[in-house]
Amino acid sequence: MSVATESTETFASLNPATGEVVAEHAVHDEKDVAAAVERAREAAAWWRALGWKERRLRLLNVKGSLTRNLNRMAEVIHQETGKPIQDAQLETIMAISHLDWAARNAHKVLGPRNVYPGVMAINQKCVLEYQALGVVGVIGPWNYPIFTPMGSIGYALAAGNAVVFKPSEFTPGVGVLLAELFAGVIPEHPVLQTITGLGATGAALASSPHIDKVAFTGSGRTAKRVMAACAENLTPLVAECGGKDACIVDAGADLDAAADAALWGAMSNAGQTCIGVERIYVVDDAYDAFLSKLTEKAKDLRPGFDREAAYGPITMPSQLEIIERHIKDAIDRGGKAVVGGPESVRKPYVEPVILTDVPDDSAAVCEETFGPTITVHRVRDLDEAVEKTNRTNYGLAGTIFSGSKSRAMDAARRMRSGMTSINAFAAFASVAALPFGGVGESGFGRIHGADGLREFTRPKAITRQRFATMNLTSFARSEKEMQRVLGMINMIHGRRYKR
Ligand code: NAD
Repeated sequence: MSVATESTETFASLNPATGEVVAEHAVHDEKDVAAAVERAREAAAWWRALGWKERRLRLLNVKGSLTRNLNRMAEVIHQETGKPIQDAQLETIMAISHLDWAARNAHKVLGPRNVYPGVMAINQKCVLEYQALGVVGVIGPWNYPIFTPMGSIGYALAAGNAVVFKPSEFTPGVGVLLAELFAGVIPEHPVLQTITGLGATGAALASSPHIDKVAFTGSGRTAKRVMAACAENLTPLVAECGGKDACIVDAGADLDAAADAALWGAMSNAGQTCIGVERIYVVDDAYDAFLSKLTEKAKDLRPGFDREAAYGPITMPSQLEIIERHIKDAIDRGGKAVVGGPESVRKPYVEPVILTDVPDDSAAVCEETFGPTITVHRVRDLDEAVEKTNRTNYGLAGTIFSGSKSRAMDAARRMRSGMTSINAFAAFASVAALPFGGVGESGFGRIHGADGLREFTRPKAITRQRFATMNLTSFARSEKEMQRVLGMINMIHGRRYKR
């Protein structure tokens, strides 16, 4: 459910393509956030007590409701972000499949299991289980306003937690509708509440002493503030931040497929994708052919808000200035614009921009641009491509196109990132069973998959002594018992191991 408030302050969510007001939303203040967290604590206790089977059923029914309301959800996303309606539908489909996976797998991944105690503790029955934390505060971004937060919301709920969700101020309607759908299926307790507002509302949530974890997705800059707020209460945090992902095109790659995927990875959603392709490293032999295919395909792309548009406007107006700065800086420093240029930035849209010969230390290569721009670089070989890919403090994901399975797998392992997709763009994001998250400035912790479920739990170890054996942790232990144990240890661990 969406949270009630006594405050009369509101803010508008705007359609970034038309500037029209989509809806007015409450600015929830600290008091509202505290009240929501308190309700969530009660909801969490009830939800946990429902048990695995009942929670699974409820969440599958929420998934059903979201599926039946897919077009309604996609329309809100379309209005609030400006992205094409089909992209909004696709995003909602991905969120649905994650909720489905989390609901179906929570018991198997988190439920109690017996653990072999080892010879020395053979008299102990050992049980490991993953218990819900309580209340999880989810703070979301605007670029994938249903898919991204569902990676935390769905998994946290399936693990038995209640959630208080603060959507981005650019996409509050998505959060409000999601909470409404949850309340329709789970009317007894507000297991998902949405609080709306600007950064201060998110800050109030992160600094609440009564939440058990924060799942933050957004910029690294804000993540640091959230982390500082969490530090006050030692609240654990999972941080999903930005990226500067690369696509590597190796020898023998299918260049048509590589150009198609790289273009989608760079330009879809107007380049406003955390795992979007921002740099392309192409081995010398393939460079000219690849660049010509890429530029040819890019010429067909047109931004707009109509059904035929390839992608929409820049959702957050302040980003336009960053995109323009990166393009200009690249060109000032010797880069060439082979498609578009500084003139491609036409508020609220940015037409496709492809840059070559851009110095490795320029902003367009080092900082997250978050626009439909891309730099293409010629490299000697795969090793240089991997080395340059890894020359960034970010490490979210990456793409490799190659004609060789073994070379691609080896390069994928060497790529410093949480995810790598070979011969396709971002295939991992739609595979619910795989963990999602970054390294370095891209954040820490994981959503999705079994690791994503465990992220919202605490492991609980229980031992039960089944029969008495030698008791070495007693003041009554004898010299003889100790000698027997030393003999055993020597036998088990003292041998020399051969290759
Ligand atoms: P942002 O950091 O500006 O805002 C994210 C959220 O934090 C918003 O809900 C905002 O209201 C809230 N917030 C702002 N100040 C806060 C504070 N002091 N305390 C608590 N919350 C606060 O990010 P954005 O512009 O919404 O999103 C774009 C960024 O998110 C990009 O860097 C993108 O790469 C990243 N992103 C990462 C992933 C991922 O999974 N790694 C997914 C999507 C987006």
